[in-house]
Amino acid sequence: MSGHLIPPRLRDDCFAMPQGVDWVPVEDALARLRAALVPVEQVEEIAVADGLGRVLAEPALAHRSNPPRANSAVDGYGFAHAATGEGVQRLPLVAGRAAAGQPYDGTVPAGHAIRILTGAILPEGVDTVVLEEDCATDGATVAFDGPAKPRANTRKAGEDVSEGAVALPTGRVLRAPDLALLSALGIARVRVFRKLRIAVLSTGDEIVADPSRTALPHQIYDANRPMLLALARKWDADPVDLGHAGDDPAAIRRALDRGSAEADLILTSGGASAGDEDHVSALLRAEGKLTSWRIAMKPGRPLALALWQGVPVFGLPGNPVAAFVCALIFARPAVALMSGAGWTGPLAFTVPAGFTKAKKAGRREYLRARIGSDGRAEVFASEGSGRISGLSWAEGLVELPDDAMDIAPGTPVMFLPYSAFGL
Ligand code: AMP
Ligand code: MG
Repeated sequence: MSGHLIPPRLRDDCFAMPQGVDWVPVEDALARLRAALVPVEQVEEIAVADGLGRVLAEPALAHRSNPPRANSAVDGYGFAHAATGEGVQRLPLVAGRAAAGQPYDGTVPAGHAIRILTGAILPEGVDTVVLEEDCATDGATVAFDGPAKPRANTRKAGEDVSEGAVALPTGRVLRAPDLALLSALGIARVRVFRKLRIAVLSTGDEIVADPSRTALPHQIYDANRPMLLALARKWDADPVDLGHAGDDPAAIRRALDRGSAEADLILTSGGASAGDEDHVSALLRAEGKLTSWRIAMKPGRPLALALWQGVPVFGLPGNPVAAFVCALIFARPAVALMSGAGWTGPLAFTVPAGFTKAKKAGRREYLRARIGSDGRAEVFASEGSGRISGLSWAEGLVELPDDAMDIAPGTPVMFLPYSAFGL
């Protein structure tokens, strides 16, 4: 009877959406994900010096003002403004000086001046400083051209932050400048959410997990696991390496059990579609409350989302390009939400296109891109989703809308730098 088999007609776009299937727009999928996830609850106290990448679990309040006292912004001569006027001013110098860390204890009488250095607290009687380059002195008197502006070259106490003010809010991911701010405000310790633990599992019989082993012709080195573990680290989480499982439900089950025991979130790659060997989605469907979304995006085959023993599982596509893009678009904001930082979409920049493309309606597209020396977004020569070198070549993604779009050189497009995804 096989002589009567009639093959389906090949379509010219093999990634076109099958008729009669509901494809979820990216925005809807993101909204559902956002509504489904909850942040970690546990909080711990740590030294500010250890705070890089950690998420504040309560507002950080200034222990003191910055600057704590009025001080000089320059090296120069300080005096009371009220006793000076127009034209050349000649003020006798008091003995001694005011320097950072070496305050002047006395009072500077009106009509006198004092040598003062950057960062020195303004002594009693001083409210204005003239830059040393604008002065002449013989060591006993200082002369400058008046009038000086009242409070020139000084910093007011608390002009930056005042004592008791909220320096940084709950949910803030601490970066290097934040550590500077907290330290300046006398904050030694902060309460932060526990670090998120992200487990990563690769699946597929063809996968060789150990890069030092020789791969046979039908085998593929595991590209996804190092990539996803690195993303976890970049996202300030503790990575949990679940290694590799073949296309074997028992092995995948064991890995998911371990992942759900040791992590807050599991990223798997491969086996997420509905094919014969797609055991991740089969297992999640049978036991893991699967929501498999056919998301209207390219690249990206169905993204399987499920709970395994209460732990969210992102079943990413096996294809490294699709796995990467799905991780950035879906896992990144999810990780931010779960870590306590709140849902965080990428910062996008509108830039002129440096390429031509007739984009069809129906799916949002992400192109591997970088900004050329002319300031335009270049895209990788091939859109083929097997081209891992393009991920590495790129410095970000160009996001094209769900609708059709005709792009010519100069057309404004959205560029999402890798750095906007925390990379
Ligand atoms: P799958 O989603 O399992 O159908 O896999 C899609 C494609 O991605 C296949 O060509 C796989 O060989 C490939 N693939 C799956 N997992 C990985 C991985 N960890 N590293 C590199 N390629 C992979
Ligand atoms: Mg597979």
